[in-house]
Amino acid sequence: MRRARKQSSPALSPGTGEFRRALSGWFEKHSRDLPWRRTRDPYAVLVSEVMLQQTQVSAVLPYYNEWLSRFPTLASLARAREPQVLRAWEGLGYYARARNLHRAAKLIVQKFGAELPDDPEKLQSLPGVGPYTANAVTVFAYNHSRPIVEANTARVLARLFDLRHPIDSAAGRKILWEMAAQITPARAPRKFHSALMDLGALVCTARNPSCQICPVKKFCRARKPESLPIKGRRARTTALRESHALITRGDHLLLQKCRTRWRGMWMLPPLWRGQPTDRPIHRSVFSFTNHRITLKIFRERQRKIDRRQQRWFPVGALDSIPLPSPHRRAIATLLNASGAKRSRQPRWLGS
Ligand code: SF4
Repeated sequence: MRRARKQSSPALSPGTGEFRRALSGWFEKHSRDLPWRRTRDPYAVLVSEVMLQQTQVSAVLPYYNEWLSRFPTLASLARAREPQVLRAWEGLGYYARARNLHRAAKLIVQKFGAELPDDPEKLQSLPGVGPYTANAVTVFAYNHSRPIVEANTARVLARLFDLRHPIDSAAGRKILWEMAAQITPARAPRKFHSALMDLGALVCTARNPSCQICPVKKFCRARKPESLPIKGRRARTTALRESHALITRGDHLLLQKCRTRWRGMWMLPPLWRGQPTDRPIHRSVFSFTNHRITLKIFRERQRKIDRRQQRWFPVGALDSIPLPSPHRRAIATLLNASGAKRSRQPRWLGS
């Protein structure tokens, strides 16, 4: 195995000041208009940063404003019940983020008088807030000079400095943070980091970077930009099959509280009988972390229910309870196919 050569964070050439000016000039003409850039409210910034963890901007856009209209303040989020929080997050995935944000809101109310601190150390004491999110909040809400390394900036930095370490290795991450610290300005860090992120999103893209029009081309050391950043081996995707039951009583549906994955949400009950010989009434495929899951739904008769974890829900009430997206889609498809009366159709049936 070839060993990566020893590399620390080198200086930019011609110079960091000139680099920042070139980037800033480009940003003034090409910046993205993102809703979380129109606010300095630390809570709104925290919401956007948590939503953007492992999630693309395009996926977050439909959720951000909706979330803030449901929970406009930290105090309102702290007062909400967990099912309301999970319902508002439904479809964004990685639900631990929503649960952590909810817990963080309660802690901020208890410990910090409902004011989000501007100290990254204190921010990191909150659930779900790591070094990146803590620094991002202090930069974007308070304009404090702190380094930031996220997916776009990691790619740009790896190319600018021709980083030969995998960016997901401990050594690679350390160097990236050193590089980010080196180029972060003391003045106007909010604008600088927004510009670096936009450069990664619009010019220094993962595939086919537009080096010809890149405003910082003359600082870039990458000889083969498409081959950077280097990443370690990804976990292999595992195929799983999951069978669940559609059990109805009049216009009620039996659901079961999720205990592990999707904790706190409601799903169709797992199929209790062994290997089914009949055909499923619904089949779909979805991804979950590094799993590719085939979901099969079978029609089942009413049976004795487990009252500790199962409940009957009127079909018309499903819109207000949190369901994992694959199960909501399956239920919607099955109810549509069954010709559920329009007057009884909940909003999510697409009526
Ligand atoms: S020159 Fe190309 S690889 Fe280098 S920062 Fe610009 S777009 Fe990225």
